[in-house]
Amino acid sequence: MSVSTFKSGIVLQTHKHATEGKPVEGVPLPKQVVIPINQHFGAPNRVMVTVGDTVKRGQKIADALKPGPLTVPVHASVTGVVKKIEPHTQANNTEGLCVIIESDSSAAQERDTDFMPPLDAFTVSREEALTRIREAGIVGMGGAGFPSHVKLSPPPHKLIDTIIANGAECEPYLTTDEAVIAENPHLMLRGLAIVMHITGVTKAIIGIEDNKAALIPLIERELRIGAYKGDIRVGLCKTRYPQGCEKMLITALTGRVVPAGGLPMDTGCIVQNVGSLVAIAEAFNLGKPLIDRGLTVAGGACKTPKNIRAPLGTLLTDLPPEFMTVDNSSLKKILFGGPMMGTAVPHLSVPIQKNTSGIILMTAAETASDAESPCIRCGRCLRNCACHLAPVIMKDNLEAGDLDGAVKAGLLDCMECGACTFMCPARIKLVQRFRLGKQKVRIRAAAKNTRP
Ligand code: SF4
Ligand code: SF4
Repeated sequence: MSVSTFKSGIVLQTHKHATEGKPVEGVPLPKQVVIPINQHFGAPNRVMVTVGDTVKRGQKIADALKPGPLTVPVHASVTGVVKKIEPHTQANNTEGLCVIIESDSSAAQERDTDFMPPLDAFTVSREEALTRIREAGIVGMGGAGFPSHVKLSPPPHKLIDTIIANGAECEPYLTTDEAVIAENPHLMLRGLAIVMHITGVTKAIIGIEDNKAALIPLIERELRIGAYKGDIRVGLCKTRYPQGCEKMLITALTGRVVPAGGLPMDTGCIVQNVGSLVAIAEAFNLGKPLIDRGLTVAGGACKTPKNIRAPLGTLLTDLPPEFMTVDNSSLKKILFGGPMMGTAVPHLSVPIQKNTSGIILMTAAETASDAESPCIRCGRCLRNCACHLAPVIMKDNLEAGDLDGAVKAGLLDCMECGACTFMCPARIKLVQRFRLGKQKVRIRAAAKNTRP
């Protein structure tokens, strides 16, 4: 099998050895869950329960006032009683409104559920199928949190011919997607078949990096057993960062390039994370909304590296010691997500949410120094940007307050992968500047009522 990749990018130490090949272990029922009501990219939700309400596992607890295209509901991940509705630190390190539910007994979790009835994706209409995916609250579980039903509804003039299942998992330390494919190849393929049916696409590629080549026989065996319709194959990519970003994966697997300012659909491709595909399969097979997920717990300051499955809303502080024991003497940084694109949080009282692919507890030795020095114009950031942007020029323009200049240098096409920051010998926090710069551009556009 040939191995493909994209131009540029960087080779990182993968640090996956501590958890790769390990099964996904389900955590015991937490005594409470703290569920952020907004866990997606899109219009905000409103709370649908009040303090004192009894809620069942799978019951909708927040949704948009008027369900629009960029909205997805949030569901109770445990059966229990709503104790509080108040702001709490979230995985993006902001305070956001959360519904706090005290769990009922373990027996009640199985008995008192509020799942939807199972639905046959292959006999209902496309609209009904898309509604099911929305109602199940499914978003991109690889990190972005973009609503899946929106991705699967491209405008009619965008012709889609390829679905890509994203199992690249290029971030160091993370091994959840690998474990999800290893343990549930049938569910991943079932979700993929549903997505192909909804979009009317007959070709699909399951993209994985070559450090996960051991998964190929598993997937191919399942493909033979399941006799899936259409042309579905595994696409092996070089282990190279940021291979898992949609634009890079499309180029590696199809040779197509997402145009500047464009979207994956402009190349005829739709990309779905493998975890989201499993969630889609469960939403139809079991009527189960997205209420739990697998994630990797690792890092040098983690004494118990594992792949775990936890109800959404589980606080890191409520994980039992066998699922997360922190070496406090060496802990320097707590990251939600991987070390390249993850967000640092100040403490462990933060809930696991829909897009939490991992918790990385990093030591000082694993963390770059915070001290910046002046730019030495070495050009390494330019040479290593997978999007072929000009990070140093974007930085100069932003520092000079020239937003238009930064946009001209490619600011809005930056996918915030952090490769430039990682390679910068002056330790300049380039990607942090770009995130802020993009925010300023959006605010300016909103004030002028124009597109960024
Ligand atoms: S400029 Fe953006 S896309 Fe390019 S390397 Fe830096 S963070 Fe990644
Ligand atoms: S890598 Fe850093 S030091 Fe080198 S040109 Fe880019 S910003 Fe300047």
